[in-house]
Amino acid sequence: MAEGSAIQIPSRLPLLLTHEGVLLPGSTMRTSVDSPRNMQLVRSRLLKGTSLRSTIIGVIPNTSDPTSDCDDLPSLHRIGTAALAVQVVGSNWPKPHYTLLVTGLCRFQILQLLKEKPYPVAEVEQLDRLEEFTNQHKSEEELGELSEQFYKYAVQILDAVRLEERFKMTIPLLVRQIEGLKLLQKTRKPKQDDDKRIVALRPNRRINHIQSTTEDEEEEEDHDDVVVLEKKIRASNMSEQALKLCLKEIKRLKKMPQSMPEYALTRNYLELMVELPWNKSTKDRLEIRAARILLDNDHYAMEKLKKRVLEYLAVRQLKNNLKGPILCFVGPPGVGKTSVGRSIAKTLGREFHRIALGGVCDQSDIRGHRRTYVGSMPGRIINGLKTVGVNNPVFLLDEVDKLGKSLQGDPAAALLEVLDPEQNHSFTDHYLNVAFDLSQVLFIATANTTATIPPALLDRMEIIQVPGYTQEEKIEIAHRHLIPKQLEQHGLTPQQIQIPQVTTLDIITRYTREAGVRSLDRKLGAICRAVAVKVAEGQHKETKPDRAEVGEGEDCKEHITEDAKPESISDTADLALPPEMPILIDFHALKDILGPPMYETEVSERLSQPGVAIGLAWTPLGGEIMFVEASRMDGEGQLTLTGQLGDVMKESAHLAISWLRSNAKRYQLTNASGSFDLLDNTDIHLHFPAGAVTKDGPSAGVTIVTCLASLFSGRLVCSDVAMTGEITLRGLVLPVGGIKDKVLAAHRAGLKRVIIPQRNEKDLEEIAANVRQDLTFVMASCLDEVLNAAFDGGFAVKPRVERLNSKL
Ligand code: ADP
Repeated sequence: MAEGSAIQIPSRLPLLLTHEGVLLPGSTMRTSVDSPRNMQLVRSRLLKGTSLRSTIIGVIPNTSDPTSDCDDLPSLHRIGTAALAVQVVGSNWPKPHYTLLVTGLCRFQILQLLKEKPYPVAEVEQLDRLEEFTNQHKSEEELGELSEQFYKYAVQILDAVRLEERFKMTIPLLVRQIEGLKLLQKTRKPKQDDDKRIVALRPNRRINHIQSTTEDEEEEEDHDDVVVLEKKIRASNMSEQALKLCLKEIKRLKKMPQSMPEYALTRNYLELMVELPWNKSTKDRLEIRAARILLDNDHYAMEKLKKRVLEYLAVRQLKNNLKGPILCFVGPPGVGKTSVGRSIAKTLGREFHRIALGGVCDQSDIRGHRRTYVGSMPGRIINGLKTVGVNNPVFLLDEVDKLGKSLQGDPAAALLEVLDPEQNHSFTDHYLNVAFDLSQVLFIATANTTATIPPALLDRMEIIQVPGYTQEEKIEIAHRHLIPKQLEQHGLTPQQIQIPQVTTLDIITRYTREAGVRSLDRKLGAICRAVAVKVAEGQHKETKPDRAEVGEGEDCKEHITEDAKPESISDTADLALPPEMPILIDFHALKDILGPPMYETEVSERLSQPGVAIGLAWTPLGGEIMFVEASRMDGEGQLTLTGQLGDVMKESAHLAISWLRSNAKRYQLTNASGSFDLLDNTDIHLHFPAGAVTKDGPSAGVTIVTCLASLFSGRLVCSDVAMTGEITLRGLVLPVGGIKDKVLAAHRAGLKRVIIPQRNEKDLEEIAANVRQDLTFVMASCLDEVLNAAFDGGFAVKPRVERLNSKL
């Protein structure tokens, strides 16, 4: 725009109401636009318009309460400044807003308000021209603390249309500002002088120090150190036995030349002894009601576990001692075992420390190495105590079921000593070589299964089973706990990202297959990371004006962006303006971030041939559905078994075949040549996919029978049925373990009917009502009942025709 040229503003102007400052003609102001009214104006007038004219807007100071901006239009200040928007930058952080750079052109007066919504438009009269003001200089930023007053005065000045009047008003203000600045300078000066003096002193001191340091002094210093160490030892409140030992070591240390390797070893040892919390403990603050609230707040569901933990804490409070069984939480990964342990420490006001025992197979890991070894160090218990700095922490012994054994001794035996209340008040770590009292430590253990916990250890523990979660529970846990935690970790707010429950369900069913919520948590983390990048890019754009500028001066004929489109992360990448917040994570976004779903294979597809049945298996990672497949071929009556098998599974398979052979006639089952002797000229191959543990062999009995019955009858097993149960040679169905986990697995996989042994009926009480509602349970006491339930229309004797169609 040429200087001095007269500007003619349009007679109708859209009005932008600003809180942050008063725009004066000739000056430029950056203002943040976040109210719905102003955002709408920016979007439709500045971002959509194509001509220069449309980028002239009226800027009016909004003198009303900023928070009341969104509803009714406040009463407008009568005089405003017509302005050219020279830059618009959009951002989503911390909430959607635009930053607008406007240059004031001239004053106008509102004649009539033409419309209020979606943003105000007024008929205006131009009051002055730009050329009169081009030489004025402003120094608003230096006003500092006077800015508030300045804003008030500025509105007055805005009203002063005549130049003379404006000067009259401004001069007294400027005088006051200058006085203020002078005063400020005076108060700052002495402080700066002080700083200079300190800086000047420092180098001298350092030089003096270097010059005066001689070798003698170095040695003396070391000697001093030993004296200090001795003092610390005496003050450390260690046991009498330990003190004696340490003082002996100090004596040796004093005589020892520093160059000896043993010098450093002994020193390290003594320093550890000083650091150990011999007598330092936190004060327990146990209040059962508060504990209940805390456990409830931190954990959704798991009622049985929380109840048992509260009972345990209550008994502790009443008895005021720790003697009693060690709690051991047993369940699949990610069901909150560690997390509950942490909550227990929190309720007691104790320090928490986790000791991972997975893969530990050397007893020195628990009991330490003797100091005669090179690189010897204390065991994990003593190390843990040093880390927490108190002698009464909560120690979580994680994964006690994964302790190993090796030539280096049995760590379980060492652990037994740690946990035994009769012995642990004088636990002797090999490195320390003196007893340390562990009786105040509260031990909690976790495991995936009790099957591999050494029996002696198991005997000391009270097992609390922590089963897996239902889909509904997982959704609740995700929305109450995991998502808020992930948002916080990634610096996101709910205004920026929205994960609806259907999306969570999609993650649970199509991206994870687990009893706990660990993978779910990880996937949510991945989503948050992806969104954090989007949000950060939004911030970045704000500092890079060329991304979303309107253009400058005469050149701003066209705006380069389209109106910002909401939402889904997948189509926002190329927009110059950030998406409207919050970013909604729908299925498209999910696919973008996590890739295609991992678990889409339809169960029914796999059951589209005879000779396949779905069993339910229990594993340390929770329940699982397990496909059992069978095929037959010409042969000599051999049985081949493949897959994850143990002897027990083989026995089940043999039992199943024997029972079917003896009942072939009754069920009209024949081999390929039509003989009731099923193994006549026939080999059978049974395959159990990996995953199920061999221990769970017996419970596969009913599934093997069903699978073979399907093979020899040529009928398909219903695709929505899963089953579990041990069988006998006489065709009875015996109860099995892990019913809750197995039922949850069937529910997760979307199956509808579950066949369980009659005698397991009582276990169904533990299962959540909503899961029970979704499933139909068939209680079977004999194999006839199983087969009847597994095939459509039952499995009673069928017409011959159907059987003949069955050849594979
Ligand atoms: P585990 O020790 O059983 O393997 P964690 O305690 O490490 O499992 O739990 C994994 C994550 O899941 C943690 O962030 C934990 O807070 C969360 N979590 C698990 N169960 C629940 C629950 N019932 N309520 C709230 N958060 C849970």
